Amino acid sequence: MKETIKDSCTNEFDPNALEEIQAINKIISTIKPIKSSEQVRIKNALHRTVSSPIRASINVPSFENSAMDGYALNLNDLKSNKFKLTEIGVSYAGKPFSSNLRNGETVRVMTGALIPKNADAVIMNEMVSKQGKFINFPKNIKKNQNIRFIGEDIKKGQIIFKKGDKLNFSSLSILSSLGIEYVDVFCKPKISYFSSGDELVVTGKKLEQGQIYDSNRYLLHGLLKDLPVVFSDLGIVKDRKINLIKKLQRASDISDIVITTGGVSVGDADFIKDALKEVGSVGFWKIAIKPGRPLAFGKINNSYFFGLPGNPVSAAVTFQLFVIPAINKILSQKRKKIILLKAISKNKLSKKLGRTEYKRAIISIVNDEMYVETTGLQGSNIMMSMLKANCYIRLSANISEIKQGDVVEVMPFGTEL
Ligand code: AMP
Ligand code: MG
Repeated sequence: MKETIKDSCTNEFDPNALEEIQAINKIISTIKPIKSSEQVRIKNALHRTVSSPIRASINVPSFENSAMDGYALNLNDLKSNKFKLTEIGVSYAGKPFSSNLRNGETVRVMTGALIPKNADAVIMNEMVSKQGKFINFPKNIKKNQNIRFIGEDIKKGQIIFKKGDKLNFSSLSILSSLGIEYVDVFCKPKISYFSSGDELVVTGKKLEQGQIYDSNRYLLHGLLKDLPVVFSDLGIVKDRKINLIKKLQRASDISDIVITTGGVSVGDADFIKDALKEVGSVGFWKIAIKPGRPLAFGKINNSYFFGLPGNPVSAAVTFQLFVIPAINKILSQKRKKIILLKAISKNKLSKKLGRTEYKRAIISIVNDEMYVETTGLQGSNIMMSMLKANCYIRLSANISEIKQGDVVEVMPFGTEL
């Protein structure tokens, strides 16, 4: 008979653990934003955070122009000329025809081309008929049709970006449309991280019995790579308090944020919390979530410390839930709202009351209804179910059971407001 594989991890609920929201609030209120800023070319400003307000020094568009390829005309001229006007020139984008229209005249215009000052509509090519130089117009033309107005996108003097705004591809387009070459952004916070554990081996070496490859430094590399931070990988440290103390001290000297993985729970070889106590201070070290209950947060001199759990899934979840908001705060960004969707659970799920649980899952849409299904084993060591997932099912502390067909909260990956 085929045996069903069961999750090997069944964390017991810990009444002393800090609730998830309290933990995030504690982190946010502890962290002081970076003050230093630098001037960078706008291409290098992608994903960076604006450090002082940016105002528009010109209107966009800066001149009235056509939204279509067509003909510019003055509506007053139409009836008296029996809706037939004479083409007297062409205005191209960048090569304007700048004279005013006289009675009975029209100018052919391209999209983005300056339109004559006294024109008050543009009719698209497809709506007119031509007889040599004469153009026949339809009867139902509206004033201002197909005209792009001065400042309709951006008004001169308007504040476009505030301190703390994060720049994206639209921002780069807007900054360049204003002729701006350089922007002031907050300096990138420096982050360093290391793995702790006697069992850890670097890739490329042969595993001895009981050893595993260190995957968390690659996980962190992947999580940090696209963020506006400078980071350094400080390798692997053995489970010895003195080694951890030395490394933490060195890491804090060169970093705004120090991240470790492993050694943070209550096993005989878990020394991170003790080492942190020696070199800095512990803010909290247990939170009521699964995966990720042991999470140490504290300070070492002027740097903030995150001791993430050793299990890769727990390290990833706690990074996403706690370290990302910390990085945002250090960069003065406004607090993001996490988008939660509602979906019908395809699984029966059960959990302990009193802690928030995140299940790796995948969203699907059938007949306009959104469904969600877990992606496999949910132990905090099981990375394959993370790989397959495109969302987490979020089960709040007061939930103990979900029946198949119940509506659950879902947090899609990569979405925040
Ligand atoms: P710990 O938090 O040190 O008790 O580790 C919890 C689990 O995560 C153990 O199974 C460790 O072997 C594993 N683990 C710890 N660090 C790493 C790492 N860097 N890469 C992969 N697994 C790890
Ligand atoms: Mg360990």
